[in-house]
Parts: sequence; structure tokens; C-alpha cells
Amino acid sequence: MDGLRLPVVKALQFHRITPEFQFCGTWNTPAQFDAFLRFLQEKDIRVVLPGDSDDGIVITFDDGERNVYEYAFPILKKYGYKAIVFLVVNYVGKENRWDVTVGRHVQHVSWDEIMEMKQWGIEFGSHTLTHRNMMTLTKEEVAHELSESKSILEKKLGACTSISYPFNRASPSIIRKVQDTGYVYGFGGNGSDRFTIKKEAIYITDTVRTFATKVTGHPRLFYRYERTKQRIINYFTIATMLKKQGK
Ligand SMILES: [Zn+2]
Repeated sequence: MDGLRLPVVKALQFHRITPEFQFCGTWNTPAQFDAFLRFLQEKDIRVVLPGDSDDGIVITFDDGERNVYEYAFPILKKYGYKAIVFLVVNYVGKENRWDVTVGRHVQHVSWDEIMEMKQWGIEFGSHTLTHRNMMTLTKEEVAHELSESKSILEKKLGACTSISYPFNRASPSIIRKVQDTGYVYGFGGNGSDRFTIKKEAIYITDTVRTFATKVTGHPRLFYRYERTKQRIINYFTIATMLKKQGK
């Protein structure tokens, strides 16, 4: 049953994990998140951090909202999975000011919560300083967003090798700047290299089945596995029936 170990690094993009209904698609309930991780464990799919291995998937969270600490972190611990959280560095410990849904501001993780997660093995990357679309910024502003967020994270946490582009938006010249600033991995893009690692966004509308397709990227591979499993189950069902009939 080890045919599902994937030969590619793939990133899953989560955002907000909360039991409270949200007026946006980019959230998941804790029960859903738990079911997705259970699927990864049952199928023996390797969960890795950037740079760990070329084989496996990376679980990412954009924005670093406090609900990640409150709801996602305990579930990650339960399954023994690491993840990377991309912080909007100027908003650590503060409320969200760029995405006001129904007049409510979302709280972000504090440095204390970040340290607690880091001690357990959660990695942190940059999601810039202010979460502005870098395509609309001047060269100087982009440079500041990239280098200042990185140096603050390095000072606080010791390292910062990955960045996730706000709104998944970055031009070739921004990506060159990302590289020059010393980042090793850039998340967001078409997946052509390690500075445009493609993230598969997971939404509230996803079921374990659609999640499975997003994870494997090869639905037929998955279905083949399912069919094989079904045949084995059928075989044992028939064997059990025959046995009961004394044959
Ligand atoms: Zn974001």
C-alpha cells in the first residue's frame, strides 16, 4: 500500500481554521481539518517542511491568524505533522486591518504563541510586512517588505528561508528580488521552480474526496488505489462468507 508516496513536493494552502461560520470561502472547520489530516495519515502521505525532502507535501497557512494557534495547532500535534505559517510581520499580536469581513477584525498570533509552536517544530516564513499586493508597490517598497520582514523573523526566530506572496502575486522582477534578499523558497505561482511553488488552496467546500484529488494531483492514481483496496475487501468478504458456509 505504499504506492501513494508522492514523487513531488506539493503545498496545501490553508488560511483560517475556526468552528464559527465565515463569510468567505478560505476557511475550514476544525473537524474538516482533522478529517483531512486523518486522510494523509491513513494514506501514508509524507508531510514535510520546505527543504526536508523532495518527496511529500507541505502544509501551509497564510496570514498567521490566531485561530491557527487555537484550532489548527492542536490537530497538527495530534497527527504529529509539521506545517509552515506565513506571518504578516507587522501584524503579529495585532488585529487584521486589510481584510475586514462584516466589520470584524481578526486577531493574529502573538510572539509567545509563535515561540510555543516553533518549539514543537512549526516553521515560520514571511508573508511580507503589511500584506500589500507587491505588484502595486515601488521597487523600494518591495525591497523593504522583503528584507525587513525577513530580518525581523531572523532576529526573533533565528531563520526565515521561505516567503508566501500576498494574493499569490509576484512578477519576475519581484521574484529576482526575493532571491537576492536571501530567500530559498517562494510560495505562490505556477510551480515552475522553488520560487514559484504552487499552492493548492483548500476551501470550506472541500470534502475528503476533493481534498484527496488536490493532494495527489493524480486522481487516477488515487482511484486505482481505491479500486485495489475494494478488490481486497471484496476478496476477504467472499472468503469470510465461504468460511461461514463451511466451504
Ligand atoms: Zn494572505
